[in-house]
Amino acid sequence: MDAAAPHVVETAAADLADRLLAWYDRHRRRMPWRALPGETADPYRVWLSEVMLQQTTVATVGPYFRRFVERWPTVRDLAAARSEEVMSAWAGLGYYARARNLHACAKAVAGDHGGAFPDTEDGLRALPGVGAYTAAAVAAIAFDRRATVVDGNVERVMARLFAVEQPLPASKALLKELAASLTPEARPGDYAQAVMDLGATVCTPRKPACLSCPWSGACRGRVAGIAEDLPRKSPKADRPARRGTAFVVLTRADELLLRLRPARGMLGGMHEVPATPWDSKTGWRADPDDHAPVEGVVWIALPGVVRHGFTHYDLELEVLAVRLRDRPAVPGGQWWPLDRLDDAALPTLMAKVVRHALGHLG
Ligand code: SF4
Repeated sequence: MDAAAPHVVETAAADLADRLLAWYDRHRRRMPWRALPGETADPYRVWLSEVMLQQTTVATVGPYFRRFVERWPTVRDLAAARSEEVMSAWAGLGYYARARNLHACAKAVAGDHGGAFPDTEDGLRALPGVGAYTAAAVAAIAFDRRATVVDGNVERVMARLFAVEQPLPASKALLKELAASLTPEARPGDYAQAVMDLGATVCTPRKPACLSCPWSGACRGRVAGIAEDLPRKSPKADRPARRGTAFVVLTRADELLLRLRPARGMLGGMHEVPATPWDSKTGWRADPDDHAPVEGVVWIALPGVVRHGFTHYDLELEVLAVRLRDRPAVPGGQWWPLDRLDDAALPTLMAKVVRHALGHLG
């Protein structure tokens, strides 16, 4: 892209926004948290959906969103919920720190703001757990503020429209600047959702449907024949891997030993199958014998490993299992009947470990 490009397209910014909004009026996606045309968006629903949608797909979020708003129709209701209830309703969405922040934010809105979300980006940013993206999204979508909302879809559309060949993540600031240069004064909330919809349904990662695109005529990436190759990405560094050992202890009465993880840190406050600490990049490795929850038993090493991807690393757990006649005394241990395990709201990793063990132990 040459240096004059932002200016060149700037002259057509209003025209581009008009064309996109006209397209949006015909093709907007219907989503459970989205206001219908003519309706006023509910800031609580917008905020809740935006927090849920981070790192997760629209299809996954749908049922969670419906359950949350059925159970807690307003931010005050959510604020009044018990922490365990919120964590349990969140189980399976991953990134549990977000659920804790969600609850803290609901309490702040209910307690410090009389149950009404602040209506500016800065005001929203001051709430617990609300980052730049969420603040911009809620300000734009719920309050029609001229905020620039940039997710992966928007980055892709901007890289193609302006033929930005600099790879991500170095190009992030430029792509945001370009997105801001197109954001109109009128209907900025609809515009923000329109760009995201365009990226999700037309300007898709592979095989963009340029013939159906309202920006087709202005798109430099399409004209240059490089649209599908954009945005370019810097080669990824290898994701670090960590390892550990999980201990599955079952009784003959089908009770499973669980414990609570410490409140802070990864999966904080959630139930877990006892496990060693996970090793780090340093090469240190925990000795399972030092961390087994029950002594003097013969552990069965189950074949295979349980793999799980966290944001910053991949984890592999080997699983040692044992079935005992009676419950041994285990400090901090809880015995959960297998048929009530749903109530323990195990995080996805731990649910995988249990499935893996039951698949082998029967
Ligand atoms: Fe994307 Fe094609 Fe539209 Fe350009 S013309 S913005 S590449 S869909």
